[in-house]
Amino acid sequence: MANTEDNLFKNVISHAKEYGFIFPSSEIYDGLSAVYDYGQNGAELKNNIKEYWWKFMTLLHDNIVGIDAAIFMHPTTWKASGHVDAFNDPMIDNKDSKKRYRADQLIEGVIEKLEEKIEKEVEKAAKRFENFDRAMFVGTNARVAEYQKKIDEINTRLKDAMANNDMAAMKQLVDDLEIADPISGTKNWTDVRQFNLMFSTEMGSVADDANKIYLRPETAQGIFVNFLNVQKTGRMKIPFGIAQIGKAFRNEIVARQFIFRMREFEQMEMQFFVKPGEEMKWYEFWKAKRLKWHQALGLGNDNYRYHDHLNLAHYANAACDIQFNFPMGFRELEGIHSRTDFDLKSHEKYSGKKLQYFDSEDNQNYIPYVVETSVGLDRMFLSVLASSYKEEKLEDGSERVVLKIPAALAPNKVAILPLMKKDGLPEKAHEIMNVLKFDFRCFYEEKDAIGKRYRRQDAIGTPYCITVDHQTLQDNTVTIRDRDTMKQERVAIDEVKAIISESVSMAALLKKV
Ligand code: ATP
Repeated sequence: MANTEDNLFKNVISHAKEYGFIFPSSEIYDGLSAVYDYGQNGAELKNNIKEYWWKFMTLLHDNIVGIDAAIFMHPTTWKASGHVDAFNDPMIDNKDSKKRYRADQLIEGVIEKLEEKIEKEVEKAAKRFENFDRAMFVGTNARVAEYQKKIDEINTRLKDAMANNDMAAMKQLVDDLEIADPISGTKNWTDVRQFNLMFSTEMGSVADDANKIYLRPETAQGIFVNFLNVQKTGRMKIPFGIAQIGKAFRNEIVARQFIFRMREFEQMEMQFFVKPGEEMKWYEFWKAKRLKWHQALGLGNDNYRYHDHLNLAHYANAACDIQFNFPMGFRELEGIHSRTDFDLKSHEKYSGKKLQYFDSEDNQNYIPYVVETSVGLDRMFLSVLASSYKEEKLEDGSERVVLKIPAALAPNKVAILPLMKKDGLPEKAHEIMNVLKFDFRCFYEEKDAIGKRYRRQDAIGTPYCITVDHQTLQDNTVTIRDRDTMKQERVAIDEVKAIISESVSMAALLKKV
């Protein structure tokens, strides 16, 4: 990470704490590693992101319904899903720094560096030649071919080692690539070992009754085990989807990047059940739809890209990520997976219950195939927070920090500020607030100079400030200040609701998707 990006990320993290978005968990006891609490503004922003996702899924698609399954599930669920046996990450320790890493991520880091080298060659050539043809250049340039060959070799070895659960081969790859620990700088590594990421606990008050159960590592299984319940009671016809937002827990080996990788986090997942053979069509459909949903937020289309998976999970026949340009570079924001009939088939086997759909058009029973979209709520939060954080130098030489959060997601939609704490201005301001509060989350403040109050609202991303002054008492007008342009306009009080609605409503945002 370049130094400036590093600083920017640090500033975002401290801003998040200072303005009530995110606090370290149980901070008075020095916190708990990779666990965070959302503060008063963070909880609002998070709820708005959830609403954007939930409404997109369940209002804009008449064949998608939402559920809310329990975190605890019968332990056999996790045997059937493959998590007990295969939800592992390969871990490796550096003997000098005593730091722990994921071996696959160290190897992928080498691939990323080679990809960067290719991009540099492409950029150089693009500057040299007019009518530059990227595909032609990449296909014919010797240096690029050499890098690409190396990438392909590493990928094949990594994929084989993962598929065969061959940790010795993984260690060999780390050695062959001469990967050094970024902290100690040495290549003094332990062997690679598999580490299961599920948290477990015991259920039952009497020791004899104690039964090992897991905290769910993904929300998806709650949907699979309820597949027939929902299909039958909702009279759903294939293709249809089940959506869910909820907590998931993973004992991550490396959890260092703020809320990007947490041990307790939230997922927004949708499982779309389709006819076998049609899964690739729906996979492409959901890939495109989900990207559009992200882009509608206006955080910059260039900040998103697809990344196809080469190492497919045990359940998938196609998978890709939508990556976002986080402060530490492009990383996974959402996964889109074609999960075949793996989960339902396996639950049939382990439970002994039929989990099939009767297709009345074809007059046949089958286990549906599943295309899944799975986005981390906390990663969404980080993408919104980090990309809307701006440090601006103003024309008068002063500076401000502003969160240019998409208006529909902002914690407060409008701040109502009497210019002074006297002459009936607070009373008039409350009158206005009492009308607006039924439609928008309003914030009232009368303390400090107006400029200071504007800055505080900028810092928490409030799209509009309404100022009530002496003229308001005479002609029922107020000034309305736009967070991004800082321009103020005098408008009639009666017009305020319409002006704000146009840009802050969830409906307006959903219409952009
Ligand atoms: P990664 O490769 O980054 O570990 P993953 O491929 O294991 O992620 P999935 O199992 O596909 O992730 O989970 C779906 C989504 O859940 C991810 O795209 C991500 O947004 C979110 N997610 C997964 N693990 C975490 C975590 N530890 N903290 C926060 N969000 C997470």
